[in-house]
Amino acid sequence: MRYSAFTIFSQGLTGNRGWKELWRKPEPKPSYDVIVIGAGHGMAAGYYLAAKHGISNVAVLEKSWLGSGNTGRNTTIIRSNYMMPENQPFYEHSLKLWEGLEQELNFNAMVSQRGIVNLFHSDSQRDDFVRRGNVMLMSGADAELLDEAQLRRMCPYLDFDNARFPIRGGLLQRRGGTVRHDAVSWGYARAASKLGVDLIQNCEVTGFRIDKGRCVGVETTLGPIAAGRVVSCVAGSSSRVMKNAGITLPIESHVLQAFVSEGLKPCLPGVMTFGAGHFYISQSDKGGLVFGGGLDHYNSYAQRGNLPALEDVCEGAMAIMPMLGRARLLRMWGGVMDMSMDGSPIIDETPIAGLYFNGGWCYGGFKATPASGYCTAHLLATGEPHELAAGFRLDRFRRGQLIDEKGVGAQPNLH
Ligand SMILES: Cc1cc2nc3c(=O)[nH]c(=O)nc-3n(C[C@H](O)[C@H](O)[C@H](O)COP(=O)(O)OP(=O)(O)OC[C@H]3O[C@@H](n4cnc5c(N)ncnc54)[C@H](O)[C@@H]3O)c2cc1C
Repeated sequence: MRYSAFTIFSQGLTGNRGWKELWRKPEPKPSYDVIVIGAGHGMAAGYYLAAKHGISNVAVLEKSWLGSGNTGRNTTIIRSNYMMPENQPFYEHSLKLWEGLEQELNFNAMVSQRGIVNLFHSDSQRDDFVRRGNVMLMSGADAELLDEAQLRRMCPYLDFDNARFPIRGGLLQRRGGTVRHDAVSWGYARAASKLGVDLIQNCEVTGFRIDKGRCVGVETTLGPIAAGRVVSCVAGSSSRVMKNAGITLPIESHVLQAFVSEGLKPCLPGVMTFGAGHFYISQSDKGGLVFGGGLDHYNSYAQRGNLPALEDVCEGAMAIMPMLGRARLLRMWGGVMDMSMDGSPIIDETPIAGLYFNGGWCYGGFKATPASGYCTAHLLATGEPHELAAGFRLDRFRRGQLIDEKGVGAQPNLH
């Protein structure tokens, strides 16, 4: 079924009885060409395998429900304001894929390029943002430096004269914005299923079948399944899953939380990030203010929120937008992040032939979903890394060739 204004109109005339389920619900086959573990980036990889490489004998195995991981838990921000030469073209490609995604998938993911502003609060921070903006412009992305007067006109509600963190301006990327996160999973699942990819929910991978140094399938809670190639895309569960293949990863798992207020009339036009603390905010189309901050700062697999992080994030909120103190908090939740040692991702084959790994997305992997799926599919289909992901190799930590976007060293909880 193709979605269109005509389909909505004709369904309306016939009592909305003709809508089809978004994806098939098949039983797992005994064997696949490719098994993808995890239905976040993994769902995108499944789609691109079928759509771009004609490989549709693929199963995406998800231990829970589609979108139950970080893909359905994030604060929905997309942008490409990266600076490192390995990151910038990759994230810019992802932004370009977002721009055409709804047409490609024939699914409304509410891609909204409402702009993102990173605030700066000092001369040295401004210089840093100028450098970042120049790198973005030179590699074909968009960036604008806003001075204080421009920002005052655009966002009069900010506390510019805050004694501790006066706001001096911001780096604006107009093409950045937000996307409805769970709709992305649904859109990829629907399109992939149509092309023959099997999405199997409630199917946890519990082990790998390894024969003579080659991965030939997986053990699951629904029984063993054979496969030509297997890729793990399980974010905060990466260490636990890959341990079953005897692989230790340069990744730590940390919790990141998000918060949403009661629905309010439109007051925030775009995404805003605080430059002197960890706080960022946007407003959802339902009116809720969606915001977040830093990690819990200790390792954990606990997918839940807690009050110390809430206090810390709300302090950041009050420092730049005192009006937020009058809003009531509706919900909060947590997701388990796969924090890599340099803050950048990994898309690579592992030392075990036929076993691939996608992870290390830290707290910025939602915006990467299209490019990550695209490059992972390329790697699985051709055996070669895609040029946009050529730096995201697993052995870069051994080679000392880190992609340290933030320049904080091997300190996962600071990236
Ligand atoms: C609160 C919060 C806010 C964030 N905000 C942003 C943001 O604004 N912008 C941005 O770009 N990024 C953001 N992120 C980060 C982003 O959400 C993640 O980096 C990204 O979604 C990771 O995608 P993934 O597919 O790797 O992981 P996930 O979406 O977590 O998918 C992994 C899947 O694997 C499944 N799985 C795990 N173990 C197994 C197993 N053994 N067998 C089968 N399946 C398994 C899980 O159930 C899960 O569904 C945020 C994250 C959080 C938690």
